[in-house]
Amino acid sequence: MNLNILVLPGDGIGTEVTGEAVRVLRRVAEKWNHQLKLTEGLLGGIAIHKTGTPFPKETEQIATQVDATLLGAVGLPEFDEAPPHLRPERGLLGIRKAMGVYANLRPVRTYKALIHSSPLKNELIEGTDMIIVRELTGGIYYGTPRGISGEGAEERAVNTMVYTRPEIERVARMAFQLARGRRKKVTSVDKSNVLENSQLWRKVVIEIAREYPDVELDHLLVDNCAMQLVLNPRRFDVVLTENMFGDILSDEGAVLAGSIGMLPSASIGDKKPSGAWTGLYEPVHGSAPDIAGQSKANPLGAIGSVAAMLDYSFGLKEESEAVNRAIEMVLSIGRVTADLKPSGAPATTVEVGDAIVAAI
Ligand code: NAD
Repeated sequence: MNLNILVLPGDGIGTEVTGEAVRVLRRVAEKWNHQLKLTEGLLGGIAIHKTGTPFPKETEQIATQVDATLLGAVGLPEFDEAPPHLRPERGLLGIRKAMGVYANLRPVRTYKALIHSSPLKNELIEGTDMIIVRELTGGIYYGTPRGISGEGAEERAVNTMVYTRPEIERVARMAFQLARGRRKKVTSVDKSNVLENSQLWRKVVIEIAREYPDVELDHLLVDNCAMQLVLNPRRFDVVLTENMFGDILSDEGAVLAGSIGMLPSASIGDKKPSGAWTGLYEPVHGSAPDIAGQSKANPLGAIGSVAAMLDYSFGLKEESEAVNRAIEMVLSIGRVTADLKPSGAPATTVEVGDAIVAAI
C-alpha cells in the first residue's frame, strides 16, 4: 500500500518524539512491504522563525493532498507574549480547519505495567479500553453571537452553543462505525435535561443508531458520565459527545492512562477518494519546554498516534495492533522514560524508540 504522509515535527519535544514515531513508521513499512512517502513540513514556532507565519501556505497545500499527517507539538516560550496571529498554537487551529477534521478520537486504555502509578484504585481501572469521540468544529467554542459588551453593572458576556443536524449526523456515524470494529457499544453524552442543544443531539443520535442495529446505544448526562469515568471506566467502549463536554471528559480520561506522554490522539475528517480517512495524528501533550533537548521525552504518545494512523487512515489493523503490542511489551520490561519511572535509571527517548522498533 502507498502511505503518503506529511510529518510536522513542530517545536520542543515535538521534534524528538516525532523522530521516534517516524522510525516506527519506517519499520512497519519495511516489515509489511508498504511504500512509504514522507514529506517534512513546518508548523508552529519553527514555521514563524523560518517563514514569518505559524501555518505556512506550503504546509496547508501539502496537508490537504497527503493521505495522513503526523504532528509532534507546537509552542515556544519566546512567543508567549506575541499577538494571537503570531503564536505557534494558531498553526494548530489553522491546520485542523484546513483539513476539515471534525472528530477528535482519543483512545484511553490502561496498561497493566502502569496500573500501580494510577491515582485510582487499580481493580477499578484495570482493563479500561475506550475511545472518546469528541465533535471538534462546532458547539459553544465556535457559535455566534459571542463576546463581552457593556460596562459596570451592565457588563455581560455571551457564548452560543449551536449544532446543526448534519454536524451531529457525521460525527455520530463515525462513532458507530468505530464501535463496529470494537465491542459494539456507543455511549452518547449530553445534557438533555437542561439544554435544547443536547435534546437535538440525542434525537439525531437515536436516529443514526437505526442505521447500525448491531451496535448498542445508551445515553448518559455529562455530569453522570464524569462520575462513571472514574467509578466504572470499563463500562465504556465508544463515548460520543459534543465539543466542550468532550474537551473536559477527555482530559479526565487522560488520568486513567498514567502519564500525559502516553496519550495519542487522532482528528478525523471525511473519507478521501483513495478510501483513506482524512486524519491528523498527534500526541496529546505539548512541546514541554522544561525537558526539551534533554532526551527525556516519552515518545509513546507519538508512537501510539502512528498506531492510530495505521488503523483509521489506512485500515491496516494488523500493523496497528503490532505497534500497540510493542508499546505494551516495552512498558512491561520497564524500558521507559523518567515520567513513567520514578526510581531506577530511565531510558532516553531514542532508547524507547529502539525498543519499540526491535519489538515490531
Ligand atoms: P505540556 O504538555 O508541554 O507539558 C506539561 C508537563 O508534562 C510538563 O512538565 C512536561 O515536561 C510534561 N510532559 C509533556 N509531554 C511529555 C512527554 N512526552 N514526556 C515526558 N513528559 C512530558 O504542556 P504545557 O507545559 O502546558 O505547554 C507547553 C507548550 O506546549 C505551550 O506553548 C503550549 O501552548 C503548547 N501546547 C501544545 C499542544 C499541541 O501542540 N497540541 C498541546 C498542549 C500545549
